[in-house]
This record gives sequence, C-alpha cells and structure tokens, in this order.
Amino acid sequence: MIHMKYCRRFYDYLYIDNNMGDICLCPWMEPAKAYIGNLMESDIFDAYNSDYSNKLRETMEEQSFRYCRKEACPHIQNDDLESITADEYKRRKQAAYYPTEINMAYDFVCNQSCETCRTGVFVPPENYPRQMDTIRGKLAPYLNKARRVTASGHGDPFASKYMMEVLENLRPTNPDLSILLETNGVFFDEAHWERIKHLAEFKLEIVVTINSFDKFTYEHISRGGNYEKIMQNLDFMSRLRESMKLTKLVNSFVIQDRNFREIPSFIKTSFDNYAFDNVVLKPVYQWGTMDERVYWFKDVLNPAHPYHQEYLEILQDNTTKDPRVYNFGGDSIHEARPYPCAEEHQRTSSKN
Ligand code: SF4
Repeated sequence: MIHMKYCRRFYDYLYIDNNMGDICLCPWMEPAKAYIGNLMESDIFDAYNSDYSNKLRETMEEQSFRYCRKEACPHIQNDDLESITADEYKRRKQAAYYPTEINMAYDFVCNQSCETCRTGVFVPPENYPRQMDTIRGKLAPYLNKARRVTASGHGDPFASKYMMEVLENLRPTNPDLSILLETNGVFFDEAHWERIKHLAEFKLEIVVTINSFDKFTYEHISRGGNYEKIMQNLDFMSRLRESMKLTKLVNSFVIQDRNFREIPSFIKTSFDNYAFDNVVLKPVYQWGTMDERVYWFKDVLNPAHPYHQEYLEILQDNTTKDPRVYNFGGDSIHEARPYPCAEEHQRTSSKN
C-alpha cells in the first residue's frame, strides 16, 4: 500500500503574519513562496482556494515539500508528519477549502523586545488601529466557528489592547474549539484573566515563554520583562491549571548561548515547582530579525560555535528524555557556519 506524508496545514491552517494583513498557509515555509494573499485586498476564501494556494498544496501531493524550511519546521526535523495512504489522501481532498485553524499572529504589540524577536520595543504606526479593525472584520466569520484559534507569533496577547478585545469578544459556536495563547506571562494576571475567563469553557492552552528561571538570565533574554511579576503570575497560572481552568500549560525555552546550560534545571523546576504539562525546547532561529553576528553567538546548534560540544552533552541529560519534553529541533544540528566576520578579519590580517 502506498503511503505518503501528510501535513494538515496545507488544507486547514491560516497564518496572518502581520498588521498589513499578509496571509500564508504556514510561516515555516520559505517567505518568498509562503504568502497566498493579503486581507486588505482579498477575501480569505478566494485566497485560500486560489490557483497559487493549490500549487503550494501540490508540493505535498508530489511529496517534495520543496518550499518547507527544514530548519524551521519541527515536524520535518522530528520526522513526525502523519503517514496516510493514497486512498485516505484522496478522501481528504475537497473541491474547496476554508481555514479551521487560525493563528492571529498579526499584532506586534508587546511589552518586551527580546533580541531574538526585535531590535526595540514595537511602536505601532498611525494607521495601526484601522489595520487591526480590518483584519478582525475579515477573520470574524471564521474565528467563531474554527476548530482551533491561536495567538502565537509576534506580539503578546495580554499586553495588547487589540488582542485582548478580540479574545474578550470571542463567542465560539464550536464547543470543541481549542485555543492556544502564547505569552511572556508578565500580563497574565488576575485582572487580565477576568476578561477572558469565559474561554475556560473551551480547551484553553497557555504557552509561556520565560526562557529561564534565573533572574539574571531572564532579564538579559527578556528585555522589558518583569521577573517579580512573572514569578507571581506563574503561581497564578499553576493554580488555574490545577483547578482545570486551563487544559494545558506549556513552558517554552528558546535555546541560546545565555541559557542552554540551564536546560536540565529549567525542565526540573517547570515540573517540580509549577503545574506545567510540557516543556518545549526551541532552537534559536534566524527570522531575519537579528544581526547575523548576534545570531551566530546565540546559535549553539552550529557545530562551529565554541559551546556546541557542551550543548550536545547537555542534551544527553536524563531530564531532556522526559516524554513531557518536546524538542522542536529533535536531534538535529545546524549547518556549520564560521563567524560572519571571520573571512573579512582573515583578509584584513593577511594584508597587514
Ligand atoms: S513547513 Fe512543516 S508544518 Fe509547515 S506546511 Fe511544511 S511540513 Fe507542514
């Protein structure tokens, strides 16, 4: 029987990438190929069923996945894409598609400006409120009947009045809806919870991105964060999880030079001191937001990095084998890259 790798993102996922309304099937595809339309100009249904979107779908049908970025996609790195028969694939194909999983990544408002994400605090342009309104209007018919709604990507939903309004007014008609909100946690307190607590009727998952329990490391990585506040809020989130108001609580850790030695203690503290269900380890990725030299120092998955060997040894720690730990990068390492200025430095020194 012929089997094929299947990724449902080609058929039911929609990622709204920015405040200009650019949309794609998956942000882990190559940026030059991923975009299928723009919400300021087109209708979601038309963009989702355009010839171009169907061309992207063909890359899965032919099993080349040629626009999917291996380093960015955890399913390719972990080789955990669903395997289905050709008959099952034919059954899943339809005449037309509409997104049932929507990631509202379009809002960049955040209280923090972590180096891996941005160079400074995001200042919204003048027309930002109008952009937020237009996108929200286009999404409305899809949001309330979706299978899964996510706010994970660029900003922090609890730090943004725009995203808080969307969540506060979300009245889903699908009782099986699951919601995932990714937050740095600083504003996930009782006051913000009051505004969205009706969402606890659905499957509600919170992903926290604190990256370290150590005050010094936290303050270095989470620029603009508030260590005392996040520690209080982690207790609050744990209480919500223990009382089943949250369906899942996940602690996320972007692996970088400053925190990779803390991986075992991060995992242990998450499970022993708080009610986290999972820990997700994510290799730092160059989304085009970091200076290449900054990225080089952060990326300990690079075999040319002086800390690389130490990183591999830490990955052997028993804590990382806990089934509740998911490593986005699997056992993969990045391509060996010399320090970006090394060649230039060599050229200059040989001239002197
Ligand atoms: S990059 Fe990965 S998750 Fe995205 S469409 Fe391709 S296979 Fe699916």
